[in-house]
Amino acid sequence: MFKKILIANRGEIALRVLRACQELGIKTVAIHSEADESAMHVRMADESICVGPASAQSSYLNIPAIITAATLTNVDGIHPGYGFLSENQRFAEIIEEHNIKFIGPHSKHIKIMGNKIDAKKIMDDNGVPTVPGLNEVSNKSEIEKFIKNVELPIIVKAASGGGGKGMRVVLNHEDIENAINSAKTEAKKSFNDDKVYLEKFLTTPKHIEIQILADGYGNVITLGERDCSIQRKHQKLIEESPSEILTNEKRKEISDLCKKAVSSLGYEGVGTLEFLYENNKFYFMEMNTRLQVEHPVTEMVTGIDLVKQQILAAAGEKLSISQNNITLKGHSIECRINAEHSETFIPSPGKITQYHQPGGLGVRVDSAVYQGYIVPPHYDSMIGKLITYADNRSECIKRMKRALEEYVIMGINTNIQMHQKIIMTEEFQSGKYDINFMSTFN
Ligand code: ADP
Repeated sequence: MFKKILIANRGEIALRVLRACQELGIKTVAIHSEADESAMHVRMADESICVGPASAQSSYLNIPAIITAATLTNVDGIHPGYGFLSENQRFAEIIEEHNIKFIGPHSKHIKIMGNKIDAKKIMDDNGVPTVPGLNEVSNKSEIEKFIKNVELPIIVKAASGGGGKGMRVVLNHEDIENAINSAKTEAKKSFNDDKVYLEKFLTTPKHIEIQILADGYGNVITLGERDCSIQRKHQKLIEESPSEILTNEKRKEISDLCKKAVSSLGYEGVGTLEFLYENNKFYFMEMNTRLQVEHPVTEMVTGIDLVKQQILAAAGEKLSISQNNITLKGHSIECRINAEHSETFIPSPGKITQYHQPGGLGVRVDSAVYQGYIVPPHYDSMIGKLITYADNRSECIKRMKRALEEYVIMGINTNIQMHQKIIMTEEFQSGKYDINFMSTFN
């Protein structure tokens, strides 16, 4: 088992990992930027070390500084959290070269799945249904053929994409070239890789993803699905498990396919296979080789601590849970609480002058903020996650409504009111919403 883990992240996910380490009896090292000197993850860790100035590029993405911190503090594992370096193949490789365990999959699996074209090919080879696509976009007649086949609309996507960047929906023929070029430019800027590909654009799908957990002995289990269709600009806002529209049969069918594909790769750790789901059919989009922001809803309905399991698997332990132990019980919803203006969505950093977080049965808040905390302007605007759990969906929504009403965050703007409105809509209440929900919501 690990003795000391360095957490290469900040905010709520750093705390989440820290808490799992504490329960496992593992010491922790927090890294932080100059702007995060008094952050909660720094206060709660056993040791902390500054890795650079405020900008993420100079601190949380600063590989040499983080490796130096890991060596100085003599850790035997590094947990990347999500975002930042969590899906950076080179980071995982360098850690491996330093004889420190990267708490995540092998770097080769990060590389394979980091390229969405390759990932789709692997899934395709394993019988997992994928979104119909075209990988080569330089040949006009191939593009014409593809469009004739799948019909407009199509979507241009970045092969190395993430965070909803480098995507362009194409509705008309004459816009194709522009869309490809502008997606390429954005992809180059964001991911230093201008490779783009085309996909059929599904018009009314849900985003449904399957959580998997694997050890180093070939054991793979699936932990049900999350419905993440409430999104703005392809970024998730609300997630829930289970999805209201999935039958047990469909769930098992897709879970078995995911299990088979992941087993064939020899993948280790936690991972998520993301699908679009339309007309009772699944279409694979991509696999995330890390812990997801929305992992808590799965933890609530399965009763399994995913972060602990992830750490145990990385430590070389055999999975102690078998597929038969997994039953989805009750219902869980997560609202992402962002420091942003509720109408313009412009980030709203600043000092939290008053703070009260909700509690009570079935209410979980994963956050690293507190009264007096200054939300820095340098990072993502998500300041916490409010998660509720109840015996069934309707009780879970009522609990979320109550918890959102109780949540007090003053001094900055948040999207709490927006969440209150969303969960009370007829569409959300029915569970039948799709990824277009936010485009008509006001
Ligand atoms: P990223 O890795 O940038 O988050 P994804 O491939 O996971 O990108 O897609 C993010 C979201 O974009 C999806 O959840 C969905 O809402 C939308 N999207 C992506 N591909 C398609 C598609 N082929 N048809 C319709 N919507 C899509």
